[in-house]
Amino acid sequence: MSTGHLTVDLGALAHNWQALDAKSAGETAAVVKANGYGLGAAPVAKALAKAGARRFFVAVAEEGVSLRTALGPDVEINVFSGHMIGDTELIRGAHLIPMINSAEQLNRHMDALPGHPFGVQLDTGMNRLGMEWDEWAEVAPIAMQLRPTLVMSHLACADETDHPMNAYQLDVFHKMTDGISTPRSLAATGGILLGKKYHFDVTRPGIGLYGGLPFRDAHAVVRMDLPVIQTRDLKKGEVVGYGNSWQASRPSRIATISVGYADGLIRAMSGKATFFADNRMCPAVGRVSMDLITVDVTDLNEPPEALTLVGPYQGVDKVAEAAGTIGYEILTSLGARYSRHYVGG
Ligand SMILES: *Cc1c(COP(=O)(O)O)cnc(C)c1O
Repeated sequence: MSTGHLTVDLGALAHNWQALDAKSAGETAAVVKANGYGLGAAPVAKALAKAGARRFFVAVAEEGVSLRTALGPDVEINVFSGHMIGDTELIRGAHLIPMINSAEQLNRHMDALPGHPFGVQLDTGMNRLGMEWDEWAEVAPIAMQLRPTLVMSHLACADETDHPMNAYQLDVFHKMTDGISTPRSLAATGGILLGKKYHFDVTRPGIGLYGGLPFRDAHAVVRMDLPVIQTRDLKKGEVVGYGNSWQASRPSRIATISVGYADGLIRAMSGKATFFADNRMCPAVGRVSMDLITVDVTDLNEPPEALTLVGPYQGVDKVAEAAGTIGYEILTSLGARYSRHYVGG
């Protein structure tokens, strides 16, 4: 078996949810979009439900349908993209709650599924999803009569504690929603860490559950071990990989590992990523190819059987840094080819 190996620590995941729940003023939901941030939506969501989560969020209705199959009837599943054309049967069949983003979506929802629950998403300045001030002013009298389950918005800069956008969006959210009796939600992971005035009734953490920044105190959830397919010795001056982008400046030993950009280890990591053999650092050399990466293991005493990318000596955000991206992208890019093993559930 040569596939990369992901170990997902469901105990650490549950711990992270509970730690964010302990910080949250009200109810703590869980965001499991994009296949549970790449780690496997069904096992991740089951572990979160066991830890106490009752309200889940996904990006699109199709994700909600699989989540309903995994979790059964007793939890609430909310869909950020709202009620799109073609979603009606999915929403009805899997009892999903669309977060309505526009007057158009509200009309579609009222026509197609009268009496079916819905929430409302407001845009407080991010200019991405949800109703803005004027549209909401028009729609609110009708929408509020139908008793939405939740009114929510999303912060654009919550990972930067001192960013003035945070206070601005908080103020806009108050102005758009003060006085309503519907539960309100504004904070994702970053917003939880900004403090209680950002929490309202429901918080919606994602990345922090999976061990990523900005939740610095998170326990590590994922470990990635990659089997070495072959090791070879190079003379000084020999070259490695596509484009001959690396040349040995000394006699070198190169390990070829079974993982590549098709597995989400993006090509921008070429020559920048560091792998580990236990606690010893081994630099990636040459270009990342589709299914393979070459690593300089010259300084190890023994040729390794496997190397670790994400693990005890390097978290997902450190790996992201080498690739010029964020932990979110590393996690959600993890492809279908890994074998995923769940421990601690
Ligand atoms: C992805 C997302 C979240 C979760 O955000 P994290 O930063 O991963 O905690 C919450 N709310 C909305 C609207 C989102 O799109």
